[in-house]
Amino acid sequence: MAGWLMPLEEVPDPVFAQRMLGDGVAIDPTEGCLYAPCDGEVTVLQPTGHAITLRAGDGVELLMHIGIDTVQLAGAGFDPQVKVGDQVRAGDVLIRFDLDAVVCGAPSIVTPVLLISQDGLNLTAKRGSGLVAPGEPIFTIQRSVVATEAATDIVGEIATRTVIVPLAHGIHARPAAKLREVLVPFAAKVTISKGDQRADARSPVRLMTLGIKLGDTIRITAEGGRADEAAATLAALIESGMGEKADPAAVPAPAAAIPVAAPVSDEPGLLAGVPAAPGLAIGTARFFRLPELTIDPIGKGTSLERARLEDGLARVVRAIEADLSHAAGPMRSILAAHRAMLDDPELLEAARQAIVDGASAGQAWRKALRPQAELFRQSGDAHLAERADDMVDLERRVVSAIEGVQDAPLVFPDGTILLADDLLPSQVTALDPAQVRGFCTVRGGPTSHVAILAASLGIPALVAMGSPLRAIEEGETLILDAGAGTLRVAPGEAQRAEAQARVDARAAALAAARAAAGAEAKLADGTRIEVFANLGSVGDAERAVAAGAEGSGLLRTEFLFLDRETPPSVAEQTAEYQAIADALQGRPLIIRLLDIGGDKPAPYLPIAAEENPALGLRGIRVGLAHPQVLEDQLRAILGVRPIGVAKIMLPMIASVGELRAVRAVLDRLRGELGIEEKVELGIMVETPAAAATADLLAAEADFLSIGTNDLTQYTLAMDRGNPAVASGIDGLHPAVLRLIADTCRGAAAKGRWVGVCGGLASDPLAVPILIGLGVTELSATVSVVPEVKALLSTLTLERARAHATAALACATAADVRRLAREFTA
Ligand code: PEP
Ligand code: MG
Repeated sequence: MAGWLMPLEEVPDPVFAQRMLGDGVAIDPTEGCLYAPCDGEVTVLQPTGHAITLRAGDGVELLMHIGIDTVQLAGAGFDPQVKVGDQVRAGDVLIRFDLDAVVCGAPSIVTPVLLISQDGLNLTAKRGSGLVAPGEPIFTIQRSVVATEAATDIVGEIATRTVIVPLAHGIHARPAAKLREVLVPFAAKVTISKGDQRADARSPVRLMTLGIKLGDTIRITAEGGRADEAAATLAALIESGMGEKADPAAVPAPAAAIPVAAPVSDEPGLLAGVPAAPGLAIGTARFFRLPELTIDPIGKGTSLERARLEDGLARVVRAIEADLSHAAGPMRSILAAHRAMLDDPELLEAARQAIVDGASAGQAWRKALRPQAELFRQSGDAHLAERADDMVDLERRVVSAIEGVQDAPLVFPDGTILLADDLLPSQVTALDPAQVRGFCTVRGGPTSHVAILAASLGIPALVAMGSPLRAIEEGETLILDAGAGTLRVAPGEAQRAEAQARVDARAAALAAARAAAGAEAKLADGTRIEVFANLGSVGDAERAVAAGAEGSGLLRTEFLFLDRETPPSVAEQTAEYQAIADALQGRPLIIRLLDIGGDKPAPYLPIAAEENPALGLRGIRVGLAHPQVLEDQLRAILGVRPIGVAKIMLPMIASVGELRAVRAVLDRLRGELGIEEKVELGIMVETPAAAATADLLAAEADFLSIGTNDLTQYTLAMDRGNPAVASGIDGLHPAVLRLIADTCRGAAAKGRWVGVCGGLASDPLAVPILIGLGVTELSATVSVVPEVKALLSTLTLERARAHATAALACATAADVRRLAREFTA
């Protein structure tokens, strides 16, 4: 195999590392092809195609086992090119395999190459570790003594046992090796038979040839010294399941996200990883290891444990909702997904049932989540498998709440580059970017929530780096270059200086962007674009002004309405809106009317349970169904001074009738209050209906602002809070872009401006496309306002238009992102 040669001790599986199956070496392959290492006959080929045995001359038998635990893949990704009995020559192709699929589906791709026949044979490795190419000698085998047939005639008692195999993947390499181990103290000759085939129980390789699967009935026969004990020991071990019992509630803890293929670097000190969040960082290696939470498995009574479960769940729900109330962008949708999972009736029912069956609250929650996480993991879909992270996270949060334990706060010295097997979404959220300059994980995937959160926190990250990451020494200097997908360990002076220069240049560009953020946003050709900020509080407004925001394109007013028993009064609302308007110091403030309902209920707004809350009573529909709430909010906004600085925006508009209904109330109130000045009334474009009728809406609305978060969910018919489809939700999907183009065209026909206040306005890859499509106002997350302004100053309308036209012609969101990366590179 082409790949990285390593000593057997480094194989992440004791069965191989401790030479239970035989001596040899291992290769971490860089290509999906296994060649015959010498001439010989194929004696065993696992039906799943992941392992093969070759008999060479002079009693030499070699086993090549592609990856660890690859039996679980049930043949997926393996394409054997030979069959049992074939004579092969050194260099013939034995098995082709899909490197990516195996890396994604198995704990490790490291391939042991073993000498499994031992009689008087000695193996000497030719070299230690390093890159090898097919055909390069890696070991020699010599006969040290003349083998003699130890013809021990065993006479005496015979014992038999019949066992039904409970192991999920049958008797593959690992359990076969353990069987041999337990037989060490016995002199008896022990065989295992399945049907009319039989194998020596001490020969893992022979055992593997039987192809023993879950549910097979096998017969153990022992002959000679302590035969009965030997047979009983073996039977008991197999019946125990050997840690691989096929019981969904007993599946092992998912080891977090399945890795995607990490590229391999052959430069010493340079590790390769998959970029998960962009950026460059220089820092010091610190390892992060999470202790396993211990839970008392036995319940202390159904009602007590049930109460503990409900209490633990309620605490986590409260904590997530508190975070949700001020979260925005991707963080918000991830929290919403976690919140939704805590309401999942199947999970709750499974946990409650486990309590009835005698489990403690923590154990019950764990039992409910792990099979689900395992289903995600084994779905065969890498994106879905990454969602297993979320389940692990929720398991930990709820179990911690039940057990009353708190993970130690994640505090690290300044300048840390964090190294971990994996990180959970909640742990990433808790990282302080001032301390942690970047992180790298052994596992994980580039579309996991961990990756999205890292990007939104501005922390560069690499994932799927594999076990070489574990070999880094604590305190070592590291250069993490997420753009290049590399981690340099112990850089030389010149490398460090070069990286530092780039870090400084980036910091200078950011500082320049911040310094220039006070200026009006303009394209390089002078075209004026307004850059606003999304707000949820007075504090946000202050930060927005400091960051150079020219106003607010979206004040989410939900913060005033949630977590209380009665609605806020008109006076209370006016005071809040006024405080925010004052903090903006005369800059425009677009106040979105209450966008509540369905998934965000308030006790004073009775909304019956809905089967499809996202398609039910929410957004402006709630206001129209509760006229007093609508009227009070409009009155409160009309109370803001100077009149006109606060504009009104309607969420979730699906038809012009809704706009007319609100305008009628607004006009009546203006009349009552004697307000003659114009108070602008705009709409959000969040439904495909609004985009398709943008010209009709623009004829009656003062402006249109596209909520790309909801527009994406409704266009793609993918719930933005559902983790099972989260990987498909991308506002750069050509379908969404075409609706944005329709909106801009419809609005332009009626002389109205179009803004974007959804997540795309904060995405540097999306900004040039939005401008090219005709958007003239961007309302972004406060922290990215300076960068967005700086980015705009590098564009011309002509270039942006050409780029947008190309984006509209792309087939997929991934194609659009690729195009956008090339455009901004
Ligand atoms: C949107 O849907 O894009 C939007 C800005 O509204 P919210 O995220 O508050 O639903
Ligand atoms: Mg919305």
